[in-house]
Amino acid sequence: MAPVAHVIVEIALNREFDYEIPDSLRDAVQLGSLVEVPFGTRHTRGYVIGLAGESAHDKLKEITRVVGDRPLIAPEILELARWISRYYMAPIEHAVRTVLPSPVRKPGARFKERLHVVPEDKAQQALHVDKLRASHARRAKILDLILAEGEIFLSELTTRAKTTAGTVRKLEEEGFVRIASRAELRNPLADQNVLPTEPLELMPQQAGALKAIRASMDTLEPAVILLYGVTGSGKTEIYLQAIQTALDRGQGAIVLVPEIALTPQTVRRFSARFGDRIAVLHSSLSTGERHDEWHRVRDGDARIVIGARSALFAPVQDLGLIIVDEEHETSYKQEESPRYNARDVAVMRGHQQRVAVVLGTATPSLESMHNAQRGKYGLATLPHRVDHRRMPAVRIVDMRSEAAHGGGRIPIFAKDLVMAMHDRLDRREQIMLFLNRRGFSTSITCPICGHVIDCSECSVSMTYHKRHDLLHCHICGARRGVPAVCPNPECRDPAFKYAGVGTQRVEEVVRKLCPRAAVARMDADTTTRKGSHEEILNEFRRGKIDILVGTQMIAKGLHFPNVTLVGVVNADVSLHMPDFRAGERTFQLLTQVAGRAGRGDVMGEVFVQTFTPSNPSIQAARQQNYDLFYDQEIEFRRELKYPPFSRLVCITLTGPSEPLVELTAKELVRQLQSRLSEEIICSDPAPAPLAKARGNYRYQVMLRGPTAAAVTSPLRRAVEAFTWPRDVKHTVDVDALSLM
Ligand code: ADP
Ligand code: ZN
Repeated sequence: MAPVAHVIVEIALNREFDYEIPDSLRDAVQLGSLVEVPFGTRHTRGYVIGLAGESAHDKLKEITRVVGDRPLIAPEILELARWISRYYMAPIEHAVRTVLPSPVRKPGARFKERLHVVPEDKAQQALHVDKLRASHARRAKILDLILAEGEIFLSELTTRAKTTAGTVRKLEEEGFVRIASRAELRNPLADQNVLPTEPLELMPQQAGALKAIRASMDTLEPAVILLYGVTGSGKTEIYLQAIQTALDRGQGAIVLVPEIALTPQTVRRFSARFGDRIAVLHSSLSTGERHDEWHRVRDGDARIVIGARSALFAPVQDLGLIIVDEEHETSYKQEESPRYNARDVAVMRGHQQRVAVVLGTATPSLESMHNAQRGKYGLATLPHRVDHRRMPAVRIVDMRSEAAHGGGRIPIFAKDLVMAMHDRLDRREQIMLFLNRRGFSTSITCPICGHVIDCSECSVSMTYHKRHDLLHCHICGARRGVPAVCPNPECRDPAFKYAGVGTQRVEEVVRKLCPRAAVARMDADTTTRKGSHEEILNEFRRGKIDILVGTQMIAKGLHFPNVTLVGVVNADVSLHMPDFRAGERTFQLLTQVAGRAGRGDVMGEVFVQTFTPSNPSIQAARQQNYDLFYDQEIEFRRELKYPPFSRLVCITLTGPSEPLVELTAKELVRQLQSRLSEEIICSDPAPAPLAKARGNYRYQVMLRGPTAAAVTSPLRRAVEAFTWPRDVKHTVDVDALSLM
């Protein structure tokens, strides 16, 4: 029997196909190889995900060709993809697609070739002949330029010498120059001037943490270290020195940061220490840059990868360390199939490859801290800022009493906050004003009756966009005008129109309150252009902006010494999400935001405006007391058997007919029940908090069990045996984070 390859092809989901490996390709076909195979009447590309001596099928077709000189998917990455597919109940194709960036996967993906012009000896000689200078002044100018540069891109030459490629070709024919093509790396860090940095002498608490990480790199006991350090405690310096340790041992490293924190500022800190041994992988790079960076990593030219979620799958050789910064961040979870959490997959990659993993954060997720408490992870704590500056004072402002004083009208800013703002401006200090997520915060709420305008298709509030004076639904894109009075028939208040509190509205009010201050806004609307995010932050850093208004974008990992006042306009927004993690999110957000204040010489101050000042998460945030928060939150989770005391799997069914979706969900649960062991808790089907999106109704079923597999193995069987109506789609989200 000829050997057989199990191949997944790019055009058919959820199935493996067997192909015969012809003798001529015996050596070339390996696990992870990209191959071309006949499929139906045409050829397609696929990946070899298994090898076998024989097949259960007969009359196999042969693999036509192997693409590339070695497997595109390294064996350890393929193993990880398999685990993702199994654990997250996702098709293996989705997992494979996730571990290979599309610029690498695409047919025809290759290095960019650029034409260079190099002078020949004859060029030098020619210029010494005065005759040429006189009779061929233009040519002489071109040659001068080439000689001055030594070597120049053809395109640059034609621009600078105001000539054409044809003229240069002529010079080549006459033997003055040579035009050569060579691969040019598109390096995203190329145009940055970074001053190199040396390792800092560590503070005792940092040294202790680094020692623990090095021990973990040696013994893998424990294999995962939770690095819990307040903002400004010097976690990044520890990462840098731990990476240096890996490099010294000939090993590479991966650093994951949330997409939103992957600013040039962050990248610069790493490239300042490690130079071109750094590769950057994230979605805002050009296709070419991503292709080239990936290959630099695979070829061992770059030893350290820094990037968002998917950088975890970089083919780093001799991996020695994985760091996940801001491990609590929900953006590590991919909200489409495969719905993996990069933090958790990082721990799995570490486990499979016997590599130490560091999870760093100022506000550990309940899951990670619980693992540390029960000894599964090591714990290194940095309780103080490096400079021993005091944490800012956090003041809770009760907006109910503000409303009472204002005759029922709720002001955007409490009086105390406004006073504090003037105070800081007088002292030439900077201010950040912070609003939660835009989809929720820019809805128009009637200040009298609390009425909110919802999208009729999506059951979320519509958001107000000042520029077009329109309401938009961010789920389905619907738009409508703003009513002149409150639509609630019992209210009809004309103040309605002006009541919305979004970043734009806050900006407007701030400009009125502080007419002499320079105000800028940073949210998804003002940062759509590439680089605009960084531009605003640079202006702010240089002191060109006094007050920065923004969404959580401005809360992440930024360091502005002159910011002494931070205002949270409405802390309740995240608290009132229909999600058992709402308290955790609120605590994390407030702590992050508070961490922005007072990183310089002046003591910082934080105002948190809320309608629920006695809420435990808000109180714990006021005291900046993670332990207090953790202790009360973990009890709540234990009582209700929420994660980390269970694994949560969320099934969402969607379709255009609500009765059919509901009926299908009920029937699925009925069939599922009989397969479930007693330790699994299965909810009744219920409309999702986001009950309708893009015209489709959404129902959810929540399952909780002691392990993910205890839930997913019976679920997988039930889903496969189920007769799905054509109009009802379903998704399975293992370890779901967003329960919308
Ligand atoms: P974190 O990542 O925990 O928020 P950073 O690593 O950004 O903290 O450190 C905060 C500031 O302290 C940075 O400006 C950093 O350069 C500085 N820093 C860190 N470690 C030291 C040290 N050992 N000595 C002096 N300065 C340090
Ligand atoms: Zn909508």
